[in-house]
Amino acid sequence: MEMSEFKFGWVALLGPPNAGKSTLMNHYMGQKVAIVSPKPQTTRNRISGILSTDESQIVFLDTPGIHRLRGRMNRFLLDSAWQALSSSDAVVVIFDAALYASKPYLMEKDLEPLVKPVSGPGRNLFVAVNKVDKVKEKAKLLPVMEKAQELFPEAEFFPVSALKGDGAEALLERVESVLPEGAPMFPDDQISTVPMRFMASETVREKLFMSLQQELPYSTAVEIEYWDEEPDRDLVRIGAVIYTSKKNHKGMIIGKQGQNLKKIGTSARKELEEMLEMKVMLELWVKVREGWTEDSGFLKTIGLGE
Ligand code: GDP
Ligand code: MG
Repeated sequence: MEMSEFKFGWVALLGPPNAGKSTLMNHYMGQKVAIVSPKPQTTRNRISGILSTDESQIVFLDTPGIHRLRGRMNRFLLDSAWQALSSSDAVVVIFDAALYASKPYLMEKDLEPLVKPVSGPGRNLFVAVNKVDKVKEKAKLLPVMEKAQELFPEAEFFPVSALKGDGAEALLERVESVLPEGAPMFPDDQISTVPMRFMASETVREKLFMSLQQELPYSTAVEIEYWDEEPDRDLVRIGAVIYTSKKNHKGMIIGKQGQNLKKIGTSARKELEEMLEMKVMLELWVKVREGWTEDSGFLKTIGLGE
């Protein structure tokens, strides 16, 4: 056996809502890092999964369903899906084959929007034909496979059951084999990158902006102080500090009897719950930190600056 070099790569998981993206990623991760939801409409980008083995490190990007995205934050999510795609070393398109076996007319409509973004020379494209465990008559898979091959002629196809794990290892091996050689980018005990924390602080900041006028928001920053997930209860407790550089601003942010801060908290929490597909308990404080806008170390801590 030959010794091969360590591999590192980014793998984007793309597919319509409810296709099984989160389920597949969780299967590979061996634990729940993404919320799996039976309700298609609630599927959003949640988190990435970092899979570290002796041979490779793979960062899965569980992208939002590209359908049904509205609003500004969702535009951000959509952008992040395309971004994930453009920076990925391999792309796995996944779809619900059981659905298309019984409703073939949905297939073109669902998958067409993906064709162009994932095609092109040099793309390592894989298609996970998912939920095959649900298809009792295997012959019904044939037209689905045919149509998929028509849509993605350059892809390699893998019938899988993300839920049961069937076929998932074969797919993973092929994906791993096309990744570039490279050193791991994350410690091997880290299971996820943390853009969600940054997005959470941005959400709070956005609500802060919306609740205040004048130049005030420019001298504020938000730092996530704690982030404790209870996956079994689909709950996350988030604590965030709003920093402001001027003492008199603190009172304005908090508002009469805390009304303004409460308003900020409520709207941020609602948006975060949608984004994370989890119940969110959000605790907010306001702290005065003079001159923070000039403090590069602090800026770095809160995710601004280099
Ligand atoms: P996502 O929106 O693409 O992330 O889809 P999810 O991973 O949240 O899965 C949507 C639903 O399909 C959930 O109820 C999953 O349990 C279910 N599901 C996913 N993969 C499979 C599979 O291979 N077989 C079966 N029977 N159900 C699956
Ligand atoms: Mg999902």
